[in-house]
Amino acid sequence: MFDKILIANRGEIALRVLRACKELGIATVAVHSTADADAMHVRLADESVCIGPPPAKDSYLNVPSLLAACEITGADAVHPGYGFLSENARFAEILGEHNVQFIGPRPQHIRLMGDKVEAKRTVKKLGIPVVLGSDEAVSSDAEAISIARTIGFPVLVKASAGGGGRGMKVALSEDELSTALATARAEAKAAFGDDAVYLEKYLQRPRHIEIQVLGDGKGNAIHLGERDCSLQRRHQKVLEESPSPALNTARRDEIGETVAKAMRDLKYLGVGTVEFLYEDGRFYFIEMNTRIQVEHPVTEMITDIDLILEQIRTAAGGDLTVTQKDVKFHGHAIECRINAENAATFRPSPGKILSYHPPGGLGVRVDSAVYQGYEIPPFYDSLVGKLIVHGKTRNECVARLKRSLDEFVIEGIDTTLPLFRTLVRNQDIIDGNYHIHWLENFLAGGGMK
Ligand code: ADP
Repeated sequence: MFDKILIANRGEIALRVLRACKELGIATVAVHSTADADAMHVRLADESVCIGPPPAKDSYLNVPSLLAACEITGADAVHPGYGFLSENARFAEILGEHNVQFIGPRPQHIRLMGDKVEAKRTVKKLGIPVVLGSDEAVSSDAEAISIARTIGFPVLVKASAGGGGRGMKVALSEDELSTALATARAEAKAAFGDDAVYLEKYLQRPRHIEIQVLGDGKGNAIHLGERDCSLQRRHQKVLEESPSPALNTARRDEIGETVAKAMRDLKYLGVGTVEFLYEDGRFYFIEMNTRIQVEHPVTEMITDIDLILEQIRTAAGGDLTVTQKDVKFHGHAIECRINAENAATFRPSPGKILSYHPPGGLGVRVDSAVYQGYEIPPFYDSLVGKLIVHGKTRNECVARLKRSLDEFVIEGIDTTLPLFRTLVRNQDIIDGNYHIHWLENFLAGGGMK
């Protein structure tokens, strides 16, 4: 096992990793930008190192600074959290070259899944169903038109290097396709430095259902069920739940086993998420994320498995603590991502938190790194915290979520709490009856006005 882990992240996920390390008796090193000197993860870590000025490219993405921090503190492993360098294969390799273990999959698997076209081709060969589309990046408008005619409109143009919903454009007809291609290419070039794009059939009313996997890198891999992340805005998840209101045990076991088998074939190491769209009873792979996800707590709540602990153990060469047979799903969990944004306009609202009272009680978990008097810096993402609620049934979970949201006080900044208070009272949400376009339709129809 590792002696000392450097956590190359900030905010709630840095704190989440730190908590797991403490429970394992592993010493912790926090890193921080000058803007985060007072952050909670810095206060709670055994040691901390300032790695640069506020912009992420000069601090949390600054590989030489992170290597120096490992060297100074003698850390023998790095946990990247999510975002920042968590899916950077080169970073994982560089750490390895310096005898520091990257806590995550092997670089070749990060690289493979980071190229979405390559990822689709690979998983298809492993028996996972994929969305209809081009098997390669499209090289010309003429080629794109011919593929779109075969798969049928509407089509979605997507960036091969994509992430965070960027570089994605819908074309409803042939007339719209060349504009969609040009816009997606320009966006992809700006965001990822790579303008390769590919085509997919655009599904009209699917749900987003993803499977959590866990592998020991030696050929054992299991699945921990699904998360339904269909409530989205601009292709970004807003609320997640498990189990999905759309699946039954047979469907879950079937897709879970298909995915677990593929991971065994790959000898996948650590945690990962295989994402699907689900429409008319069928699954369509869209991508795989080779890191811990923001929404991992809903899985933890219904399985009682600590995903960060499994990640650390397997990175150190250990076995999984559970077999597929040991995995039991109990009850229902829902997570709300509470952002420092206006709940109607979604305008970011950094600033000082004047009062902060999180909810509590049975089945309530708040993963957050903020506190009263904390000043949210304007440089990073706007996540203030995650409210995760568990209940024996979905109905109990929804009732618990409602009262927890009503208890939650965050003053001084705008947050998306009012959005969730509205959603939890909406009949479609209460019934679990929604798809990936539901929230945007609701907002466009004046749901928050
Ligand atoms: P990113 O890596 O940018 O997050 P994903 O491929 O994971 O991109 O897709 C993000 C979201 O975009 C999905 O959850 C879904 O809402 C939407 N999406 C992706 N592919 C399709 C598709 N073929 N049809 C309809 N919506 C899609």
